Amino acid sequence: MGLEDARELAHLPPHERARIVFEAESSARREPLLRSLRVLTWIAGVGAAAAWAAFPFLAHADARAALFLPVGLTFLGAAAAVVRAFHGIKVRRLHLRDVLLLEDLRPAACFACGRSLRQVDAARCPGCGAQLLRRSQAP
Ligand SMILES: [Zn+2]
Repeated sequence: MGLEDARELAHLPPHERARIVFEAESSARREPLLRSLRVLTWIAGVGAAAAWAAFPFLAHADARAALFLPVGLTFLGAAAAVVRAFHGIKVRRLHLRDVLLLEDLRPAACFACGRSLRQVDAARCPGCGAQLLRRSQAP
């Protein structure tokens, strides 16, 4: 399920949804932890590929010691990719919420508690009190 299918955006026309998702994803990509995890995934991936390629040459000396590096790098790369994927979902949703807030667009559902906001026109979620609009003077 992509960000565009998020139920918080269900009330917006498709082109508007696509634009907001694009903005949220662009700013999420700049988030430091996601950036670091992306770099780590690449370094570990390239390192693992190189270490696996060198393995036949290193294995002559001590096969078990020679396995340590490629196996370690493979696990490191895989772990970084998994953490990045899960953290990415969270970060992209936070950025999505921020883009809506910044543009003063009320989500169709509350990002915090999931309550449907179709009938609501307050600036805060009646369920959990989360801020929905920038303008604080709204009822
Ligand atoms: Zn709520």
